[in-house]
Amino acid sequence: IQWEKQVRTSAQIHRQGGMSVLVTGAAGFVGSHVSLALKRRGDGVVGLDNFNDYYDPSLKKARKALLSTNGVFIVEADINDAKLLAKLFDVVAFTHVMHLAAQAGVRYAMENPQSYVHSNIAGLVTLMEACKTANPQPAIVWASSSSVYGLNEKVPFSELDQTDQPASLYAATKKAGEEITHTYNHIYGLSITGLRFFTVYGPWGRPDMAYFSFTRNILQGKHITVYRGKNRVDLARDFTYIDDIVKGCLGSLDTSGKSTGSGGKKRGPAPYRIFNLGNTSPVTVPTLVSILESHLKVKAKRNVVDMPGNGDVPFTHANISSARMELGYKPTTDLQTGLKKFVKWYLSYYGYNHGKPVN
Ligand code: NAD
Repeated sequence: IQWEKQVRTSAQIHRQGGMSVLVTGAAGFVGSHVSLALKRRGDGVVGLDNFNDYYDPSLKKARKALLSTNGVFIVEADINDAKLLAKLFDVVAFTHVMHLAAQAGVRYAMENPQSYVHSNIAGLVTLMEACKTANPQPAIVWASSSSVYGLNEKVPFSELDQTDQPASLYAATKKAGEEITHTYNHIYGLSITGLRFFTVYGPWGRPDMAYFSFTRNILQGKHITVYRGKNRVDLARDFTYIDDIVKGCLGSLDTSGKSTGSGGKKRGPAPYRIFNLGNTSPVTVPTLVSILESHLKVKAKRNVVDMPGNGDVPFTHANISSARMELGYKPTTDLQTGLKKFVKWYLSYYGYNHGKPVN
């Protein structure tokens, strides 16, 4: 009963024409930012997360605390829990689902491949089944990934390009996710928007990502490993700042249209959309390191090694004209500025004062 009350309160809408959104992966990096942004503009938000230990769970708990002080309640559960999902959809008539729960990271798939199947395939299907039977059916916006472009060499990547060369199991599960959601769209009339995020970074970020672990190692005086591609070419990423991604997510929710439902009267086909959300200005990894050095005022100890073929791709670069046109998406933060904000957050979160840890 207490639980239901918390869920209902969190789902309350405080603006005209607002939405009630179930955000999966709400204790995660992107999920916590999106949940806060929705809540701030008056939408109802309920989070869901299993708080797994893929990376430091205390960071997830800290995000949860931040959300809680802002009125967002996170249900601690796995997206594979069909009963729990059914109960949630019973308690709240969610208009939208923002699905961000997943096993992320390309390298960890070599250690724990089953976790990708569990969250990104089985979990996705369980969630789709719950959305299918929910009344009303929510519109779904979910995170695919730039990794679906795999070893494509034609840049910038556009949504119509082939995605038939995944370089990691992670990429394969995201590609499978696109096929799975497409099926639910055309059989059951669910409104689906898949967002291919390009290397998202920023405050409250993910400790397993390079910009984050580089920062930690540089501050601790440890070496960092910088991978280099074939023929000694530097790797490059289309690093995209979290606030830009959040705007793209909100723009997607705002334009996602209604699900049409399977039986009964159809109001025409429900939309199935895919968008790149990137920054359209790739930066090499050595440049990323130089920017971090300048913000941290510490020189990095670099080990430059050849890319070991563990799932990384040589470069990513988004064409964002579709998102620009249909979602009003317009990234505004360059890497220099975004990393400055990240470093500021990092130093304060981990208790550094003038570059020295505070005990
Ligand atoms: P994250 O790991 O910080 O967030 C994911 C959250 O989902 C975590 O809090 C985790 O505990 C939760 N979760 C995982 N499996 C779950 C399950 N079975 N049930 C319930 N909760 C579960 O990652 P993120 O960077 O915030 O990524 C969000 C989404 O965006 C993911 O789908 C990811 O694949 C995708 N994505 C992220 C990036 C990026 O650069 N951050 C790039 C491309 C795609």
